[in-house]
Amino acid sequence: MRKGTWVVLALTAVLVSACGATATPVDPAPVSGVAAPLPVGVTENPPITTPSAAPTNCTNARKSYRPGPLPSPGQMPDRSTMAAIQQRGFLRAGVDQNTFLFGFRDPKNNQLEGFDIDRAHEIAAAIFGDPNKVQFTVMGSADRIPALQNDKVDVVVRTFTANCDRWQQINFSQIYYVAHQKLLVEQSSRVAQLADLAGKRICAQNGSTSIVTLAQKLPNATRVAPASWSDCLVMLQQHQVDAVSTDDVILTGMLAQDEGNLKIVGENLTDEPYGIGIPQANIDMVRFVNGVLDKSVQSGAWAASYSKWLGGSGTAPPAEYRD
Ligand code: GLU
Repeated sequence: MRKGTWVVLALTAVLVSACGATATPVDPAPVSGVAAPLPVGVTENPPITTPSAAPTNCTNARKSYRPGPLPSPGQMPDRSTMAAIQQRGFLRAGVDQNTFLFGFRDPKNNQLEGFDIDRAHEIAAAIFGDPNKVQFTVMGSADRIPALQNDKVDVVVRTFTANCDRWQQINFSQIYYVAHQKLLVEQSSRVAQLADLAGKRICAQNGSTSIVTLAQKLPNATRVAPASWSDCLVMLQQHQVDAVSTDDVILTGMLAQDEGNLKIVGENLTDEPYGIGIPQANIDMVRFVNGVLDKSVQSGAWAASYSKWLGGSGTAPPAEYRD
């Protein structure tokens, strides 16, 4: 990872922090009544939408469709989803630009980068022999499923937890990373676990599993839902919320953007196995993407990407298949 990137990327957030931060513990002082306006589009306690209880044979959301042999780049099988993408000339990938380390825009070159962005380039390379034949569409957590259902993108590679609710609406690839939901608070905060946030304000994006978990595990907290994870970071720095709660890797990215002022606390609230989202009709594409992920793990590309963005050495989760 390049520290220079962190510093530039963090500039706005740190400036906000420098103006708004104090040494006083934020807990138990109430955070209501602060002067700074909430970012545009923030809602409080948005309704939590869960799909209707349609019958599902999903018992293990980590199981995806078994890959066959990978076709050579530029030679996608006739009438396949991949052939249509090859014909178009580029892969359409839904990603984030606000999640440092996974999907973020490097201000030095205006390019999207991160662990998820690497996966999108690998899929493009497997179809075209050229990792750069990708059109990225940046989206929030709540936009991911509609984008796949409405044929706006071919894949969503965006810290996307595979679960049985979502399997009723879209397909997922095999799991390529497993995160865990935790809490991010100010360094001076006395919050040590979720229960300490009873009656407090917690930030999580609408459409994320994180906000559903908060509604279930601590319903009396106020859930503050902006359109991006970076808005959560700024609201924490401005004392407009007492904590941010989402996947540990997203919180690690925020920590790196404001080193020394924040800390990750508490137990693992959930397991968040990440899969690549794919439209429900395109099972051939699921098998293809799983072949690409397998190849990435076998070639060492996955491990190199892990160590570049997350540091150290990681082991890919074992692939699990439903057939
Ligand atoms: N992994 C969680 C999810 O898919 C939270 C991350 C996010 O929404 O960006 O909902």
